[in-house]
Amino acid sequence: MTTSTPSAAPCVADRPALSEAVPQTLLLLGASGDLAARLLLPGLGRLVASGAVPDLRLVGSGRDDWDDERWRGRIAGSFATVGAGGPREAEVVRSARYLAADVTAEEDLRRLLAACQGQTVIFFALPPAVTARAAATLARIGLPPGTRLMLEKPFGTDTASARSLNDLLAGLVPEDQVHRIDHFLGKSTVVNILGLRFANRIFEPVLNSAHVACVDIVFDEALGLEGRAGYYDGAGALVDMVQSHLLQVLALMAMDAPPTLDAREVRGRKAQVLRATRVWDGDPVRWSRRARYTAGEVDGRRLPAYADEPGIDPTRGTETLAEVVLAVDTWRWAGVPFRLRSGKALAGRRKEAVITFRQPPRVPTGLTGYEQPDRLRIGFGPDRLGLDVNINGPGDPLEIDQVHLVADFGPGGLPPYGEVLRGAFDGDPTLSVRGDTAEECWRIVAPVLEVWRAGAVPLQEYPAGSHGPADSLLAPAPGEVARY
Ligand code: NDP
Repeated sequence: MTTSTPSAAPCVADRPALSEAVPQTLLLLGASGDLAARLLLPGLGRLVASGAVPDLRLVGSGRDDWDDERWRGRIAGSFATVGAGGPREAEVVRSARYLAADVTAEEDLRRLLAACQGQTVIFFALPPAVTARAAATLARIGLPPGTRLMLEKPFGTDTASARSLNDLLAGLVPEDQVHRIDHFLGKSTVVNILGLRFANRIFEPVLNSAHVACVDIVFDEALGLEGRAGYYDGAGALVDMVQSHLLQVLALMAMDAPPTLDAREVRGRKAQVLRATRVWDGDPVRWSRRARYTAGEVDGRRLPAYADEPGIDPTRGTETLAEVVLAVDTWRWAGVPFRLRSGKALAGRRKEAVITFRQPPRVPTGLTGYEQPDRLRIGFGPDRLGLDVNINGPGDPLEIDQVHLVADFGPGGLPPYGEVLRGAFDGDPTLSVRGDTAEECWRIVAPVLEVWRAGAVPLQEYPAGSHGPADSLLAPAPGEVARY
């Protein structure tokens, strides 16, 4: 027997990191904000420590009248939270500069761009409306060739605003230089899902409507508002989690095999899936749920009701838990409900995609105890594969038991923001959301937002520390054991 090893397909991992050769500048707009301190700078610290960006300058900007020393203190403090205190990181801190600026003003932006050297990455860690105004100002003054842009979620507030922001960005740089951040899935998680699905012959042949009963994508967190009223009360769980992150997971779970891991292939297949995705039965009233938490206890911590949190306007009716059932109208998935849910202040932290299989067509008479369906679970953070499968367990061989097989995926070396920053420094947009996809995601949730705003779906309540509303759309089917 002869075997042949196909020559390696070109993929992003084979590409020499651009950062090896070219000096780079990260221009951080919104440097004094929460995102910069808590997520972005720690991710950057780990990235710098890894040696992936050997020649980096960091220029920070905000409206606050900080000086370089204060900014360096902020960077060093954030780096320290992830143990990034080595010589490479110290050099980035030492050479960092801070410039106070109004990023909607032409003169100020010109000054900021003049402070950048080499390959420039501009990170918009700004309120969304300010980002749009800054982009419009940049469109008037122009950008140095090769500049890459990193934009935070939410990307727009609906399909029309996402489209007009896309139009604006298209006039600034080519699409491949726009990095719309989805930090939920780091590179390792994306590759873990693709490897599980497409690097063996076990799972992929049964991942279709002939064998799958439903797919659940769940992000339940124990955390409540955590002081983020200013952002969250205007967004809510549907926009904050489902419209952005969970639809990206859906796309990876449902897409067809890309021939390579190249950004064009992966993002193209994700876009195909999302174009085919819509609310189940076209009935957003029946197939969505919204709720918000009341006072309760989570992990021994007392939480006030969401409506009583400082900075919340209870009359807005912002939900802290959202559920929606979607259809992916492709040959492979037609008829399989994709049930998405995300909620805050819940009893159990749960971050996973679960594929529930149909029952076998015929179980030999004489075997008992096989009522629970088989399930394939992909847990996120830590990334883990779980398989709940019916087999003859210990004891009576006629009695079927469900065993739970678990395997850990390799953890990524970088935190999520380290990975998305690396994508921008390396000019690899695989992890970022393509412009048309950002618009599709708004198109998918638009009917739900519309019926919620019209009051057609009641805003339910659940005590903090509970499992959410009793009539969850993800409630187990009769005969299944409830997991939450
Ligand atoms: P903050 O309100 O904490 O910070 C916003 C920053 O923008 C501040 O530094 C602020 O400066 C600056 N800014 C506002 N207007 C201007 C202006 N005209 N010119 C210059 N600077 C300006 O927000 P976050 O850091 O929390 O969020 C930033 C973005 O990241 C938002 O789009 C948010 O949706 C997104 N995001 C945030 C996450 C988080 O955990 N915080 C998570 C995921 C996304 P000043 O203080 O002087 O006004």
